[in-house]
Amino acid sequence: MDIIVRRGDSLWYFSQLFHLDLQLILDSNRGIDPDKISVGQRIRIPGFVVQDYQVQQGDSLWAIARNRNLGVDALLLVNQHINPNQLEIGQMIKVPIRITWRLVQGKQNYDFSRTMKDIGRLQSVYPFMEVNAIGKSVLGNELSELRMGKGSKRIHYNASFHANEWITTAVLMTFLNDYLLSLTNQNPIRGLEMSRLYQQTSLSVVPMVNPDGVNLVLHGPPENPEWKNRVVEFNKGSTDFTGWKANIRGIDLNDQFPARWELERARNPKVPGPRDYGGEKLLSEPEAIAMADLTRERDYARVFAFHTQGEEIYWGFENMEPPKSEGMVNELSRVSGYKPVKILESYAGYKDWFIQDWQRPGFTVELGHGVNPLPLSQFDEIYQKALGIFLAGLYL
Ligand SMILES: [Zn+2]
Repeated sequence: MDIIVRRGDSLWYFSQLFHLDLQLILDSNRGIDPDKISVGQRIRIPGFVVQDYQVQQGDSLWAIARNRNLGVDALLLVNQHINPNQLEIGQMIKVPIRITWRLVQGKQNYDFSRTMKDIGRLQSVYPFMEVNAIGKSVLGNELSELRMGKGSKRIHYNASFHANEWITTAVLMTFLNDYLLSLTNQNPIRGLEMSRLYQQTSLSVVPMVNPDGVNLVLHGPPENPEWKNRVVEFNKGSTDFTGWKANIRGIDLNDQFPARWELERARNPKVPGPRDYGGEKLLSEPEAIAMADLTRERDYARVFAFHTQGEEIYWGFENMEPPKSEGMVNELSRVSGYKPVKILESYAGYKDWFIQDWQRPGFTVELGHGVNPLPLSQFDEIYQKALGIFLAGLYL
């Protein structure tokens, strides 16, 4: 919610009044010098919204505040034009509401537009989360990166590289929401103080690398007849796209990276299709290029790519992974029950390239078990296991 600064107010005072870390208020108001706020200035308070309230018989501002666990000055702050001693029955006032519930409902067909709507809702309630456009898909859908945290340890999570693994986006967005909730309500998650992790890390999240593919799996081909004919042809005439992993051009985005790409190409299909075709050249697709550019620019300490399925964590690439990757994967396995797998005859993936070029820890996490796309009935179980990995990714 937005509030207007009065004489004598300070950001530190707002942090006390709303029981929020000062850091979150500072990060929600980037570009504002906290020592020079002025009367009349608009300040964003994260984790709250303002609701209208109609004054009832017997109400007083003090009682309304007490019932909501607020200081009475929180009410005065959002109702600067009322006389607190002369409330009238039926009068409309504003009431700050602390958000203590999830805005993201992950247990649904989580397509591109759902993702963008939820990003917008999270950003409006939690303005300390930054949202950056990092590129566009083949069909022009925006690729978003979300960032939060003040720390020097830069960590990256991504989901839905593969179209029919879209449940990974729903799971990752749910974690983000829980992280944000935990920060503004100062509730630990599994005993971990998230505000400490916020101070120590900078988390970058690309929740949907392949929006065109996800929409193809969930909604069928694009309306445009040219695209429609093309994808049906790539799909060998079938209109069942549940087996589709690639982007809309039939190129597998996780086979596009410069990490022994020719080896992957040699063993994979040579024409566009639902899966495993790495393209005519490496990094030809805008979604893969956006991920490569982002990764080069940000210089991550470690990356996690979330896929389905198999309940496994791939952590090696051609013995180029650093020694600490093994200890890390053991902890990731401990908190999730997932099985560490070091060697896999597979190349040109995002985490392969990261391990090869930076020699830092990179992980591909295969969430859930069964046949892709995994059913939403698995969502809760997947989330409980993935939560351990999301948290360990931050504290390790
Ligand atoms: Zn995958």
